[in-house]
Amino acid sequence: MSRLKMTGPAAVVYQFIEETLSKSDSEKDEETQYVSPSSLAKGCVLYLAFELLGKQKSEMETRVKRILDVGTSSHYRIPKYFSKLIVAKELFFSDGEYRIHGYCDALIYIPTELSEENSGFYVVEMKTTSSAAYQRIIDTYEPQEEHVRQCQLYIWGIKRHYKVIPINGGIIYYENRDTLESFLFNIEYQESELMKFLDRVKAMYALIEKEQLPDDYLPYGHWAHAYCPYLDICAPGQKAIQQQKSEKKPLPDNVLADIIAKKIVSKRRKDEATKKKVKAGRSLDELAADLNWS
Ligand code: SF4
Repeated sequence: MSRLKMTGPAAVVYQFIEETLSKSDSEKDEETQYVSPSSLAKGCVLYLAFELLGKQKSEMETRVKRILDVGTSSHYRIPKYFSKLIVAKELFFSDGEYRIHGYCDALIYIPTELSEENSGFYVVEMKTTSSAAYQRIIDTYEPQEEHVRQCQLYIWGIKRHYKVIPINGGIIYYENRDTLESFLFNIEYQESELMKFLDRVKAMYALIEKEQLPDDYLPYGHWAHAYCPYLDICAPGQKAIQQQKSEKKPLPDNVLADIIAKKIVSKRRKDEATKKKVKAGRSLDELAADLNWS
């Protein structure tokens, strides 16, 4: 039976599928030597080295896993709110030189009818947070450092992979998990800052090939060590925790005053509730005596 000849883009896609399916295990292993934007976003080069070397992570609490699942499922719901602006969801990019690949949450296009001034392509990064974290973001009027880095990485990756998409910048979409309030930040693309970090990552690849760990990690005072799944096997991380404990700074006066005020209010509420309970527990005779009925 003669086979029909495939041509043009159809032939390219067919060839791509054939090659993907026939990849050997060693070729697949090479692909796992890539890092994801979410790991890079943490900002710790040593973390990335542990991950590439396949070091064991400490077990995550099931409660935390459920929180992450809520975040993942919101990626199906939130884009519906701006679906008419979406050009692509879960947009893949890959970069062989820096060994980074990942999926950008969404690429949107703001048409001129909506805004002449802001019309263009933007990368959107969606994050769901606890009420406390959301409030901190609103109070400081600043997105979290790691989310900004992740958004910058998506812009970088899509620019490099697709080459023809003129991306104006990024948007981080925050949603409060408890109240579903949302707030969006503009992210200006800052390639030179990002490249300084990516060059440190590239230097780490050369080290781990020689089975050496990089001497490149987050500053000792950084909060992220305490939540890192590699803390048990990480000497700099453990030193950071020790140092943080020994240098525990007193709380600023305004924070302290806030805590004391909240405690006073809570005590008053408790006292009032106790009084009400006592009142509710009185006998009819006692009540009559209190009200001078007897
Ligand atoms: S514990 Fe700290 S230094 Fe070590 S890998 Fe984690 S974040 Fe990096």
